[in-house]
Amino acid sequence: MLNFYIKTYGCQMNERDSEALACLLEARGYREVETETEADILIFNTCSVRDQAERKAIGKIGMMKMLKDEKPSLVIGVIGCMAQRLGSQILAELPQVDFVAGTDQLQNVPNLIAEAVTRHGRSAALEMGPGVFRELDGHRPGQLIAEVSVMRGCDQFCTYCVVPYCRGREKSRPIEAIVDEAERLAAGGTKELLLLGQNITAYGVAEARKAGTYTPEFSAFADLLVALNEVKGIERIRFTSPHVRFMNDKFVEAVTQLPKVCKCFHVPVQSGNDRILKLMHRNYTAKEYLDRIDAIRAKAPETLFSTDIIVGFCSETRQEFEDTHEVMRRVGYDMAYIFRYSQRSGTKAAETLTDDVPEAEKHERNQILLQELNESVARHNAQMIGQTVPVLIEGPSPRNPKRWCGRSDRNKMVLFDATPGLKVGDLRNFRIERSTENALYGTLDKS
Ligand code: SF4
Repeated sequence: MLNFYIKTYGCQMNERDSEALACLLEARGYREVETETEADILIFNTCSVRDQAERKAIGKIGMMKMLKDEKPSLVIGVIGCMAQRLGSQILAELPQVDFVAGTDQLQNVPNLIAEAVTRHGRSAALEMGPGVFRELDGHRPGQLIAEVSVMRGCDQFCTYCVVPYCRGREKSRPIEAIVDEAERLAAGGTKELLLLGQNITAYGVAEARKAGTYTPEFSAFADLLVALNEVKGIERIRFTSPHVRFMNDKFVEAVTQLPKVCKCFHVPVQSGNDRILKLMHRNYTAKEYLDRIDAIRAKAPETLFSTDIIVGFCSETRQEFEDTHEVMRRVGYDMAYIFRYSQRSGTKAAETLTDDVPEAEKHERNQILLQELNESVARHNAQMIGQTVPVLIEGPSPRNPKRWCGRSDRNKMVLFDATPGLKVGDLRNFRIERSTENALYGTLDKS
């Protein structure tokens, strides 16, 4: 029996792909191991979002040459976004690599491994299935919270982003396949689903456009949420990441009214200035973005929002940055990933725009938004004191095993004293007694 080890870089989609691939390889008789040195097959699941992410992976794969020199039978494969983007160039420049598989080729990895093991062949599989979602749906057993890929790719082509080139055009799985996967997960003890898609609110849009059935009222994602809300045993549903352009009224109705959909949404804004949004090719204005936030809050006022923001995008003036700051104040985010713009080769922004905001200025804008965020999070946490919230119990806290932890329905970490009778996976009410920037402290509500 051959052992394999997968090293994963990048986002949740890559984590999920690695899990699905591990299940596929185990089903084919390979055994997963914990360290590179135990492995007969080493697989690097790579990320291309930033140049730095690629350099890190290339550096690591470069170091594997030594391991391969010591153990010539070692098979090394590169999969994921960098594999898709650089393709055969990886084989040409890194002689220790045996195979490269693109983002639509996970199901071919066992064949590529067999080719390398039996014939010492070196190969690249990079084809992207046009409109065909070739999903692997295996999961590691016993997951309380499970990730489920519902669509892949992105048709938005934001000018700073490399994803459409690495992950290809949007492709969605049929609702029945996703519900079937959710039912299997629920039967295995999963209580919470995290639905994944680069542009998740465009779920089913490409297929509907092709069939000529797409209208502005269309939201197959809302239909999917309705179907998943019915799955027995699943208590909570989250998803990432929506795009404002597809957050129509049908979507708003579903996410605010379905009881299992957690009332906390990650809605990337990127900028609060319309000229910059246009340069980014985001396809919405700041007013349209805020309108959708308001529409959700009108129906579910308790909703918390998180976001992604880029500061210092090409030619962004201080006043334009202030527009972003103003959106942040208006929404009062509970979490935000704030990035200083850096050019990504291969994107339209890198080819056609100038990265001209000085680094010191980007840094200052970043700090201003971080300060705003910290104050907003502290406000939200303080408001929770005295409230009783449902918590999905995850087990001992990794930092202090005397305490246990779990997440509230609005994705807040809640810490509490280990209590006899409580077990992992229980959904129980806790009264929040105090808060810090990072967590809430609660006691079990026995009423
Ligand atoms: S919506 Fe824009 S930022 Fe998000 S994956 Fe698509 S192209 Fe990239």
